Amino acid sequence: MRRGLIFDIKEFAIHDGPGIRTTVFLKGCPLACMWCHNPEGQSATPQILRNPGGERLVGEYITSDDLAGRLNRQAKIFKQNGGGVTFSGGEPLMQSAFIAEVITLLDDIHVLLDTCGYGSSDDFRHLLKKVDLVYYDLKLMDPELHQKFTGRDNSLILENLTVLSQSGVPFVIRVPLIPTITDTTENLSRIANRIQNLPGLVKVDLLPYNQSAGAKYEAAGMRWQPDYDEKKPVTANLKIFTDLGINVGVK
Ligand code: SF4
Repeated sequence: MRRGLIFDIKEFAIHDGPGIRTTVFLKGCPLACMWCHNPEGQSATPQILRNPGGERLVGEYITSDDLAGRLNRQAKIFKQNGGGVTFSGGEPLMQSAFIAEVITLLDDIHVLLDTCGYGSSDDFRHLLKKVDLVYYDLKLMDPELHQKFTGRDNSLILENLTVLSQSGVPFVIRVPLIPTITDTTENLSRIANRIQNLPGLVKVDLLPYNQSAGAKYEAAGMRWQPDYDEKKPVTANLKIFTDLGINVGVK
C-alpha cells in the first residue's frame, strides 16, 4: 500500500474539469514558476505556514486505500453531475505510482490529470492508460525564458506533449497569462503552431493572471519576487488560435 503526500482536497469544485469534482492537490513540484499562487505545493515535504494569526501544518500523508475510500464515497454525486476526480498539485507526476494505485482502487469514476508535464515520460505513459482527460500546461515556448521563469527548460515538457498526443487520451492545453511574459504574440503563436493538429486536442484555455499570486509566500518562508509588472493588463489574443482552427477560450 503506497502513501502519498497531499496538501489539500477540495470537494464540490466546479472549475477543475467537467461537472462537480473533488480535486486532490499533490504536494511537490519540480518547477518554481515565478507566478505560482500555491507556493506551499512546491516542496515535497510537509511544512509549517506561519501567519500573524498562527501556524498551520501543510502536507499530510495518506494511503491510497484511504484516499480511494474517501473518493469512492462521492461516486454517486460525480455520476449524477458528470463530474469526477481531478489530480492536481503541485505536480502529480512526482507521485505517479501513488496516483496510479489510487485510480485502480476507484469505482467507476472519471479521472482528470492536471499536469505541468515535467516528469518521467515512462511514468506519464503509465498514468495515461488510467485517466480519462488531461489538463496540460504550456507556459513558455522559448527554452531560456522557460528556464528563467520556471526554473527548468521546457524540453521534457515538449517531449511529454508528444507522448500525450500519441496516447489517445483527450487533452486541454492550459496557458497561464502572465503580463508581458507568456501573453506575448510570439509566445502564443509558437504555442498555437506547436499544438495545431495534435490528435486528442480538445481546446485551449487561457487562464487570466491571478492577482493574489504572491499572497502566501511570506507564510511559506519564501520570497515573492515577480520579474514582471503585475499591474499590466494581460493580452488574451484568441485570434492567434482561432486562425489555426483551434478551439480557445478564457477561463
Ligand atoms: S507548475 Fe504549477 S504548482 Fe508547479 S511551480 Fe508552476 S504554477 Fe506552481
